[in-house]
Amino acid sequence: MTLTEKTLARAAGKARVEAGDNVWVKADILMTHDICGPGTIGIFKREFGQSAKVWDRNKVVIIPDHYIFTSDSMSNRNVDMLRDFAKEQGIRYFYDVIDDPNGHWAFDSRKGVLKRQHGASYAGVCHTALPQKGHTRPGEVLFGTDSHTCMAGAFNEFATGIGNTDAGFVMGTGKLLVKVPETMHFRLEGKLQAGVMAKDIILHCIGEVGFDGATYRAMQFDGPGAASLSLDDRMTIANMAIEAGGKNGIFEFDAKTQAYVDYRCKLNGTKAAYEPVTRDRKQKFVCELVLDLDKLEPTVACHPNPGQRKLAKELGGIKLDRAYVGSCTGGKTSDFLEFAAVLQGRRVVIDTFGVPATPEIVHDLQSARWGDKTVWQVLTDAGVQMTENAGCAACLGGPADTFGRMNAPLKCISATNRNFPGRMGHKDSQVFLASPATVAASALTGKITDPREFLSQG
Ligand code: SF4
Repeated sequence: MTLTEKTLARAAGKARVEAGDNVWVKADILMTHDICGPGTIGIFKREFGQSAKVWDRNKVVIIPDHYIFTSDSMSNRNVDMLRDFAKEQGIRYFYDVIDDPNGHWAFDSRKGVLKRQHGASYAGVCHTALPQKGHTRPGEVLFGTDSHTCMAGAFNEFATGIGNTDAGFVMGTGKLLVKVPETMHFRLEGKLQAGVMAKDIILHCIGEVGFDGATYRAMQFDGPGAASLSLDDRMTIANMAIEAGGKNGIFEFDAKTQAYVDYRCKLNGTKAAYEPVTRDRKQKFVCELVLDLDKLEPTVACHPNPGQRKLAKELGGIKLDRAYVGSCTGGKTSDFLEFAAVLQGRRVVIDTFGVPATPEIVHDLQSARWGDKTVWQVLTDAGVQMTENAGCAACLGGPADTFGRMNAPLKCISATNRNFPGRMGHKDSQVFLASPATVAASALTGKITDPREFLSQG
């Protein structure tokens, strides 16, 4: 069996499963957020009753993160609905925006968008927060009301996005009927070269199969190249499995996974026991692709979908209006360090926005020092508008006052994960997906630029 089949077989209490089988799977974690949480709660209450209790209050994780730092009253109200539900149900893992359990969330635009407005328990973007807060464990099943839930496949688990109806059912029962997906095999060999990042790997893979090429399939990444990647890199890749239509993305368990998960579970006091899945010697794949990381070059997905692959060096004729680094996939500490390494001592020539995915990442960047400056200062000195209000921000457009949102038909190079028309705001804007290093180089020139041009300048 493949990694995905083994995980699902275990969660279904079966010795083996095959692609195409429909099995009832036990959930280890159900995650929801401010966009889909209120709808999920409504379905749960409608189907199970107004006084129903969730199947396990320690396994429902609620993370407001999407439309948070906006004056839009309906968005603010969504956070209050989550708080009421968490209180009513005794949900242990609710990462509230504010500290007062009886308060109401309201963003104060008079304080500006850059300075922190959230409280101490706020966790930031759900997919990045889940591992940081110790909710991703090898061998487990994670369902989330968000398509990029597949990011947690980096931790050797089956993680997938589900709709509000399914989530309402999981909330009440702790299980879900799942069709076992076929597995596509991506064997990574070699090592990434300077200026090339994990984002380039996944943009290359999506370009190979097309933005619907993995529809309802598992994408399994393994081989020595995968082993050489950090957990942050693996998260970037697994996150974008859905951008090829994938049901999930999944990596093997190794010492790096163990170190990350053990540290995070201990730090947060979450469940520390888990059982990784290993692949069998005989696995049935629907197709196989071998990728030599040594040969990979900075890659861009052009408007209007993540499968429109080109090399950055081929796109120098495309002039840009803005640059954006952030999101679950591209707003991690390691992403900002690569971004800052290209920008250090230079100045951007187009509007450039930086949105760390979580408050912990804000803290990392404000405390890491390069010489006499913090990394945060390196970025602001280069002209990047950095906000302390970690979250999804303009990755999903959001209300008109969302930080970094494109309210006009602009061209933006972005470290985010999706570039369908209107994704980051205006329906006629265009988004070019790239690694943080390529976003940085492009912000310095105002056109799409291969970051190796700056690395060679020393
Ligand atoms: S950062 Fe973007 S992709 Fe990630 S959860 Fe938020 S809106 Fe979705």
